[in-house]
Amino acid sequence: MSNTLDIQQIRAQFPVLHQEVNGKPLVYFDNAATTQKPQVVIDALDNYYKGYNSNIHRGAHALADKATQAFEETRKTAAEFLNAETPEQVIFTKGTTDGINLIASSYGRQNIQAGDEIIVSTLEHHSNIVPWQMLCQEKGATLKVIPINAKGELIMEEFEKLLTANTKIVAVNHASNALGTVNPIAEMIEKAHTVGAVVVVDGAQSASHFDIDVQALGVDFFVTSAHKVYGPTGIGLLYGKRVFLEEMPPYQGGGEMIKEVSFDGTTFNEIPYKFEAGTPNIADVIAFDAAMKWVQDLGKEAIRAHEAELLAYANEKLSEIPGIIFYGTAAEKVSVLSFGLEGVHPFDIGMMLDARGVAVRTGHHCTQPLMKHLGIEGTVRASFSVYNTKEEIDTLVQGVARVAKMMA
Ligand code: PMP
Repeated sequence: MSNTLDIQQIRAQFPVLHQEVNGKPLVYFDNAATTQKPQVVIDALDNYYKGYNSNIHRGAHALADKATQAFEETRKTAAEFLNAETPEQVIFTKGTTDGINLIASSYGRQNIQAGDEIIVSTLEHHSNIVPWQMLCQEKGATLKVIPINAKGELIMEEFEKLLTANTKIVAVNHASNALGTVNPIAEMIEKAHTVGAVVVVDGAQSASHFDIDVQALGVDFFVTSAHKVYGPTGIGLLYGKRVFLEEMPPYQGGGEMIKEVSFDGTTFNEIPYKFEAGTPNIADVIAFDAAMKWVQDLGKEAIRAHEAELLAYANEKLSEIPGIIFYGTAAEKVSVLSFGLEGVHPFDIGMMLDARGVAVRTGHHCTQPLMKHLGIEGTVRASFSVYNTKEEIDTLVQGVARVAKMMA
């Protein structure tokens, strides 16, 4: 199907894909929620627990050394993955949500004052809204929202109008999990910097599709989750410009993040450790290394080409079904297809697809303000990944067509 990737060979590396659900071969189209894991990632977890499970950084023994090296190797891989200036500018978090909360709690509390403004967009996931709302409430700052057009694209003229000397933070996703819209973040970063605002990019939906170059983007903070990039759950990356990370206060207190502790006071460790209190998620960090290397070996351009082909095919086939409604028709999209059927609740479509072994997500996708803007309760979301095929899309289309017929 794709000229450069052998999709069957790729599928063979994902044990979970080879099963039946409700008596039908599994068709997994919930990749925007979480991607499946290739055998190399599962092996990395297995090898760690079977071979060298040990706490890191503090141990004076061979296993601790090996675990520490593997853990820090992931930081180097992540720095290359994002093209960060140095590995210590990559902080391990629990995920995108944790990364945004870290920035809001640490940088935000230190820098935001009454009267300041924080800009988000209509397309944001709750995790890129609520932490900023909480910060605004605490500080007496104001949250402003970039509107979208009928295609689900940000209205850039409106964004420019929102930017003022009071704008201190712009927090926007690189790609929308609900509609798939890819936002022009390079341009947004440039514009935000003209008023001196700091830009936080939520890369939860972009890191598996696009080569991220934080230096070329000039982005101040970039966050993502490993589990959306074929890696384990419970792990994420936060990249920050050194000047901010060094000035920011710790997020949590505890072991590892200190230099010296006494009852009179405590001095804090250097970055990245200042932000990594307590025993981290060692096994999953180590397995994330395997995931990033796996993705880099395939190449994001080839992954994107395959996913774009699937998206175009699904769009074409689904559009032939009477009563189909597409949500989000942006010119630039990742492989996320949100749709509905006239007069049918998205949940019912999801249930009927599940009966055919097709896993999609239904509901508001943690974007309630966007759903309110669209005047709907939710959508059906099919999101495609590198291991999906056109034959699987045919199964989806047959299922949706059947629902449309039953409800007609
Ligand atoms: N932002 C976006 C755009 C997302 O798609 C998600 C996950 N659905 C998140 C943030 C939150 O990611 P996590 O749950 O991994 O913290």
